[in-house]
Amino acid sequence: MGDMMNDVLQATQIVIEQALRRLGYGDDMVDLLKEPMRLLTVRIPVRMDDGTTKVFTGYRAQHNDAVGPTKGGVRFHPGVTEKEVKALSIWMSLKCGIADLPYGGGKGGIICDPRKMSFRELERLSRGYVRAISQLVGPTKDIPAPDVMTNSQIMAWMMDEYSRIREFDSPGFITGKPIVLGGSKGRETATARGVVIMIHEALRLKGIDINGARIVIQGFGNAGSYLAKFMHEAGARVIGISDVNGALYNEEGLDIPYLLDRRDSFGNVTNLFPNTIGNEQLLELECDVLVPAAIENQITEENADRIRASIIVEAANGPTTLEATRIITDRGVLLIPDVLASAGGVIVSYFEWVQNNQGYYWDEKEIDEKLRLMMIRGFENVYDIHLTRKIDMRLAAYMAGVRKMAEAVRFRGWV
Ligand code: GLU
Repeated sequence: MGDMMNDVLQATQIVIEQALRRLGYGDDMVDLLKEPMRLLTVRIPVRMDDGTTKVFTGYRAQHNDAVGPTKGGVRFHPGVTEKEVKALSIWMSLKCGIADLPYGGGKGGIICDPRKMSFRELERLSRGYVRAISQLVGPTKDIPAPDVMTNSQIMAWMMDEYSRIREFDSPGFITGKPIVLGGSKGRETATARGVVIMIHEALRLKGIDINGARIVIQGFGNAGSYLAKFMHEAGARVIGISDVNGALYNEEGLDIPYLLDRRDSFGNVTNLFPNTIGNEQLLELECDVLVPAAIENQITEENADRIRASIIVEAANGPTTLEATRIITDRGVLLIPDVLASAGGVIVSYFEWVQNNQGYYWDEKEIDEKLRLMMIRGFENVYDIHLTRKIDMRLAAYMAGVRKMAEAVRFRGWV
């Protein structure tokens, strides 16, 4: 994904540098924070069901641990690259900074296609990955979590493997676990809940009523599917959704409960229906809110001119290129950038880790309310920087996100 024509790492570095310069930092700070402090590449041999051994390549990037341990998901995807994992680790730092969590950013990835692997092969791969990275991770070092095509079952295997290596139960090693293994209530839905809160804020600013508001969602994975559910329940009209195979569109609103019922565990659903439109057309539908909730580089200079949404809320990491950000911002589209909009996942991951550390668990209402407060505070901070500095929402989010880390680096005397 990262090595396509739009280089996500380079784009991130450009904005990180702009943000740090505006905060008054010099070359030394830029030089430190534009790359992860650590990148581990591992080769994981996995015994396949047919008896052969296949060797997978995986990564774990740790951006910076001046604020605290690093934190971020692990993705399983055939398109994972080193550059992409590095960029994703920097984005995690920004999310943690915006939400004011005591973490730096981390990210992992394995080049694989879980849709083509059996349950047992996935278990062996997940355990092998943990064995390979175990020296560098842990509840006070670097805490993994789910991401694209990984889920609570995979977190459970990883936690079990880590606990065996360390020889004591270590639920705080990883978040996004099943509830029975120390997972948090509300973690499964957290990213979508956070996005919902951002949509409410954005609609309010634009003076649009949620009732009947037209929503288009690209991607039907963890974020996209729960988001569709919550939007539908809130009275909005979800007029378009998509997965990797295609897209469905209905101006009157799609039957979301039915689609949720039919979706498989990787978020595939459109293959069961005659696709009404393609994935490209989906992004160009006239709507109130467009939510890219899939992967990087979906809104580019190629199609940015044709986007007809009033609001874009980025539930995916890196769905909009820098050039596209400029084009849509100039056209008056309100953009809620990824590092703010999708912070709900890591916020509830933080709650999960806190609960694991204290051994006392909160109910879902408490979690959702704490999440809401943190998302709103993050939004107000970013929006305020956007207005007072007269800069686009992405740069404002980067400034809000990197500030605490840069200060922590300064206090520690690293730069
Ligand atoms: N993978 C999610 C993200 O990109 C969540 C990370 C976490 O919970 O640590 O934000």
